[in-house]
Amino acid sequence: MNRSLHAKQPSQSNVSKLLTKFAAPNPFPTKPGHPPSSLLNPNQTSRQPSPTNASNALKEKGIDIGKYDGGLEIDDEKRGQLIYGEAAEDLALDSSVSRKHPTREWHLTDFDMGRPLGKGKFGRVYMVRTKAEPKYILALKTLYKSEIVQSKVEKQIRREIEIQQNLRHPNVLRLYGYFHDTKRIFLMLEFAGKGELYKQLSKHGCFSERRSSRYIDQMADALSYLHGKHVIHRDIKPENLLLGINGELKIGDFGWSVHAPGNRRMTLCGTLDYLPPEMVEGKEHNEKVDLWALGVLTYEFLIGNPPFEDRSSVSNTYRRIAKVDLKFPATISVEVKDLITKLLQYDPQRRLALSSVLKHPWIVKYRPKDTVRPSGGHT
Ligand code: AMP
Repeated sequence: MNRSLHAKQPSQSNVSKLLTKFAAPNPFPTKPGHPPSSLLNPNQTSRQPSPTNASNALKEKGIDIGKYDGGLEIDDEKRGQLIYGEAAEDLALDSSVSRKHPTREWHLTDFDMGRPLGKGKFGRVYMVRTKAEPKYILALKTLYKSEIVQSKVEKQIRREIEIQQNLRHPNVLRLYGYFHDTKRIFLMLEFAGKGELYKQLSKHGCFSERRSSRYIDQMADALSYLHGKHVIHRDIKPENLLLGINGELKIGDFGWSVHAPGNRRMTLCGTLDYLPPEMVEGKEHNEKVDLWALGVLTYEFLIGNPPFEDRSSVSNTYRRIAKVDLKFPATISVEVKDLITKLLQYDPQRRLALSSVLKHPWIVKYRPKDTVRPSGGHT
């Protein structure tokens, strides 16, 4: 275990303080029901933020969004064909006409392009800043429509976008808006300043109990919020988690999530190592799959690999999951063993509820005193 992770984190730099302030519109608007005004539909009214403060701060310090590499234009020359028919309709996605949370109309020309943040399956992700005041920093993700159609995931992408736009929780990556042109869809995402959690895990091998406990606390609260809205995530794994500028966890990928008020699903999905017994055995499943995945995640954070991994064969992994063949190394605490064992229960009904995870001694022990939990664990 990497002891250096127990060390106190250095205080925020000026740039990161500014980023915290301007990284993205506050996920919890000061007045409930009032989204940040810069992202509103121009026809809607709202309290204006103070542009003077924002622009002064930015003029004084400036946030470096990095150098744009021309990647979008390079891609546009050789990537993506026009699409037609039903698929074109499915992917004509624009948040300014969204029924629930309409935003103002957005275009690519509304942003200053910054450094590349990464490449996803369907396109590149860039750090950008809105040209209009207050100049928000965002991650702009591009998706090529023709590639979505080739992978036959138009409905899934549409669902992912619709789900994510309605979610507001500090540990759930916010989607502020979206728009499209003939070949691409653009997602205006909350900028996760510290990048991928998976990279951190690979770098350190595993996390300390303190760090793991804090992440699991945030995960449990976010899942509690999602389940309260009948959203099952179904693909919890380190690769789908990002880190905010203050190191806070952000659930980032909703590709497999399902909005399932009251119904049970039978599709096999998710990543092998995180699949619960009921999915491995092709049975019906419900939101309790996320509790199992939370147990697997806790284990992987602490040990560095998932509990049922068997590199020799996929069927061995399946077998170990179905038997709940769980072994702990001697190095980990009794308290976290208790939590993992209570989450990794074969019977979904017996898995520890999220409200109890939030009260578990291993979570409470490491929770910073001033923590305010927005969801409070109502599952
Ligand atoms: P994805 O298409 O979501 O797999 O994104 C590709 C890569 O871009 C990721 O692996 C991240 O490194 C980066 N990335 C995606 N979304 C964000 C974000 N909101 N903030 C910062 N980096 C991001």
